Amino acid sequence: MDNVCKICGQEFSTGHPWSDHGIKLANYFHKFYPRYSKLTNKLIIFKNPDQYLNADFENLQEMKTWLKSAGEEGKDYILELLIKRKIKKNWIYAPGQALLRLSNLPSILYYEKQFNLPFSEICKKLGFKIKYKNKEEKVNWIAPIEIKIDTREKLLLKFPNHIKTEIGCLKFGDYSLVGDEKIVIERKSISDAAGTFSAGYDRFKRELQRAKKAGGYIVILIENSYSDFRSIEYLPQTRHIKSNYDHLSKRMRDLYEEFSNFQIVFCDGRKQAAQITEYILKLGKKIKKIDIQLLIDKKVL
Ligand SMILES: [Zn+2]
Repeated sequence: MDNVCKICGQEFSTGHPWSDHGIKLANYFHKFYPRYSKLTNKLIIFKNPDQYLNADFENLQEMKTWLKSAGEEGKDYILELLIKRKIKKNWIYAPGQALLRLSNLPSILYYEKQFNLPFSEICKKLGFKIKYKNKEEKVNWIAPIEIKIDTREKLLLKFPNHIKTEIGCLKFGDYSLVGDEKIVIERKSISDAAGTFSAGYDRFKRELQRAKKAGGYIVILIENSYSDFRSIEYLPQTRHIKSNYDHLSKRMRDLYEEFSNFQIVFCDGRKQAAQITEYILKLGKKIKKIDIQLLIDKKVL
């Protein structure tokens, strides 16, 4: 879009159409930059310039419906989505499953099915570097380990009997292996996550910074599924929050641009959260090369 107002030619700002012409921002965009859903041919609802100017559909569901009958055009389209995001966001590494979801892009499983290739191969062809090997690493589920749990952790995960736990002070994160506090899990209920990525955002960035300095790696483990998170404004336990999905997911995406010593993982309840915690701690630093969300979505974990 131009950086000048289409009505008067003055410099454009988002407040300008309303303050100088009495025209709502949404109406301004609809009039001068009409965008239509590729599926329904209806004008796309305006939320903000960034969302609107990049949208070809009203939502991911519309995109999926369109893709079903789009054939080769659809395959080109989803590749182009990745390329556009790579350029716009300066993505160097191929995105993981959680970042794709938070970016409203099709999932890795979808790309792999469409192209019948591993996602890493698709991404290499597009010029991405590969961070996640997307290989399944096995752990010995019955081997005993000792887990250190931070004193500030309130709702302790329950582990099976072969795992011992001790309470102590961790510099970052909530769970680590006793004797190795560099790979940690930061457990979050869905309302914790809402707090962390809204009011607690700066504090959390400082924690990531601290971890980075110490050579640490944080897995942010959210006890709810991505689809719960997607409807965070409507769930009984979070509908009171003053934030919304669009805002929270933007913050999460921003973190991926700023830091590389973490990954976000959505899971299916506290029992699975305990299992994933054990998995992460048993794999140690190998976990940095594993897209945990992908293993969960593939039902490996
Ligand atoms: Zn104007």
